[in-house]
Amino acid sequence: MNNSNLSDLQFDQKHIWHPYTSAVNPLPCYQVESAKGVHLTLQDGEQLVDGMSSWWAAIHGYNHPELNQAAVDQLGKMSHVMFGGITHQPAIDLCRQLLDIAPKGLERVFLADSGSVAVEVAMKMALQYWACQGSTEKHKFLTPRNGYHGDTFAAMSVCDPVNGMHSLFNNVLSHQIFAPAPQTRFDQNWNEDDIAPLEDLIQAHKHQLAALIIEPVVQGAGGMRIYHPEYLKRCRQLCDEHDILLICDEIATGFGRTGKLFACEHAQISPDIMCLGKALTGGYMTLAATLCSEDVALGVCAGEPGVFMHGPTYMGNPLACAVANASLKLIQQNHWQQQVADIEQQLKEQLLPLKQHVAVADVRVLGAIGVVECKQAVDVAQLQRIFVDNGVWIRPFGKLIYIMPPFIISSEQLSQLTAAIAISLQSLN
Ligand SMILES: *Cc1c(COP(=O)(O)O)cnc(C)c1O
Repeated sequence: MNNSNLSDLQFDQKHIWHPYTSAVNPLPCYQVESAKGVHLTLQDGEQLVDGMSSWWAAIHGYNHPELNQAAVDQLGKMSHVMFGGITHQPAIDLCRQLLDIAPKGLERVFLADSGSVAVEVAMKMALQYWACQGSTEKHKFLTPRNGYHGDTFAAMSVCDPVNGMHSLFNNVLSHQIFAPAPQTRFDQNWNEDDIAPLEDLIQAHKHQLAALIIEPVVQGAGGMRIYHPEYLKRCRQLCDEHDILLICDEIATGFGRTGKLFACEHAQISPDIMCLGKALTGGYMTLAATLCSEDVALGVCAGEPGVFMHGPTYMGNPLACAVANASLKLIQQNHWQQQVADIEQQLKEQLLPLKQHVAVADVRVLGAIGVVECKQAVDVAQLQRIFVDNGVWIRPFGKLIYIMPPFIISSEQLSQLTAAIAISLQSLN
């Protein structure tokens, strides 16, 4: 096939899949040439202030000298070696650092290659934990609606059944048990009725339930919903009372995004299993981790086959671990708490007033996350054009225009993002 007559963007449109994109009528793409700090530079030289942190990941900004140096130093030693029968300093340092900062009780780390895989690993751990104790009937997962846990099949089975298009895969996906999404907002008074449906489902299905899986406090890609920490606290209590494992998926929320290092801390709970990803490497490359308690680790390996049945080829990739180590060090040095608190304050001041706009249904802010929910689904291509014309990078989906900028963003740059959102609303009615 000769594609040399196509321009790069034409070739891209014709031959390359992008996330959640039609092969027939793909949305336009913008070609990024380089990125530094909070800026993405397009091919024509235009600089955009990044509002997305490349999907929650680039918390320190792009092209960071210390993260670059960590990668270069590691490259000079080795990019990768197999993890079977071999270990190395970058992985050891990373797991030490993770266990130091993770909620207490988490003692073992499984390094995975992406968030979805970390969720697969967590779910497999829960299933193997019960199977090894002879409780093979405990093979279902309970989860609130509006969740998002990744795109692989086990992860997809616990995503919101409507957003996740379960009807398409009805014959293939495991049928899990869905509770209504939490309704009490983060800053409302806790309403006891909010947990009742989940409690009823636990009563009805506890003998079948391996684990409850939930995104702590912020439901991300399933709707950008921010709920009351008491809901999470009650999940922990109910799981303890009824012998169900609790899996917290912190892939989006981990590493400071919600104002706590981990969103679990808002409820002062520790899960039995926790998934990390996205910002783990500061947005440099794909790496994820599934942490579990000693009880889970020992339980998983109690019966036949006596080992945990998982081991990706690129497990513990040294290059990714080295960058993750440097990113965790930066988190400590960079006063992320102050940065995120300042971003939260400014997002509240500048986004909450947009509630008055006729096209807006709701506005919510937590930590370095700002969400404007419109009454109707937005035209993504049209809004992106407006954003780019206003010098910012924001990628809406469905009814949601949302930002989660790098923590290093300045107050002026953040104002540019919120002003662009206000301008974009003028195109909606
Ligand atoms: C993004 C995300 C995942 C999936 O991670 P990938 O690296 O895209 O596979 C899982 N859970 C949550 C909460 C996420 O935000």
